[in-house]
Amino acid sequence: MLKIKNLHASIDDKAILKGINLEVKPGEVHAIMGPNGSGKSTLASVIAGKDEFEVTKGSILFENEDIQELDPEERAHKGIFLSFQYPIEIPGVTVTNFIKTAINETRKAQGLEEMPANEMLKKIREKSDFLEINRKFLSRSLNEGFSGGEKKRNEIFQMAMLEPKLAILDETDSGLDIDALRVVANGVNKLKSKDNAVIVITHYQRLLEYIVPDFVHVLHNGKIVKSGTKELAHELESKGYDWIKEEVTA
Ligand code: ADP
Ligand code: MG
Ligand code: MG
Repeated sequence: MLKIKNLHASIDDKAILKGINLEVKPGEVHAIMGPNGSGKSTLASVIAGKDEFEVTKGSILFENEDIQELDPEERAHKGIFLSFQYPIEIPGVTVTNFIKTAINETRKAQGLEEMPANEMLKKIREKSDFLEINRKFLSRSLNEGFSGGEKKRNEIFQMAMLEPKLAILDETDSGLDIDALRVVANGVNKLKSKDNAVIVITHYQRLLEYIVPDFVHVLHNGKIVKSGTKELAHELESKGYDWIKEEVTA
């Protein structure tokens, strides 16, 4: 599904990603961990196509197509979803209307008709019930006055509604209380299927108690320096990141 080869990216001529190789197959959950500043969010942004970063070398293939010339919207239409670290507020646009628009834009880009209103409503009910989102929340203005947990819930609701092929969740980890963790995990676990893949970016192992990854990668100084299974996440939790840094520089 996703094939990243020798990816280098910079911002303002400062190299941040320095040769990332990563392959994600349908049905897999990959966790990307690493110390602060190692380039985790940059990697997510580059996959999603945010234009503040410049890819200087390497390639990103999504379903065997080079997506580097596509803008973020086009990538989203192909089925790549990136959770926002700092979601925007849109006064006057409700949670429901935002997602309706997003779904119909996606369908349009795929050459499909708008989703019939009754089908949309059914889907909204089904997903919001599952995520324990109440009706009142659905009619609130997007992100306006949302608590950290509510932002997270809305993000996961968007993901659940859009059913992306590849979901990338970039957790700031701060402010994620146990309820929010549960919402994120429920959403991801529900989305998981043999056709979807998930990349979970996290600094701490905590989230991975709820979302069990098939692979764990450690990013350090713009490179994946170690890959393993969920055991690696446990090891990082107990030993921290310093031993990885030492291993790399040794
Ligand atoms: P992480 O998510 O692992 O904490 P980031 O990808 O956010 O790491 O950042 C990696 C490096 O890139 C850091 O040194 C950070 O300061 C730098 N960086 C990230 N975004 C920007 C930006 N918009 N402008 C300048 N430097 C940035
Ligand atoms: Mg950071
Ligand atoms: Mg980050």
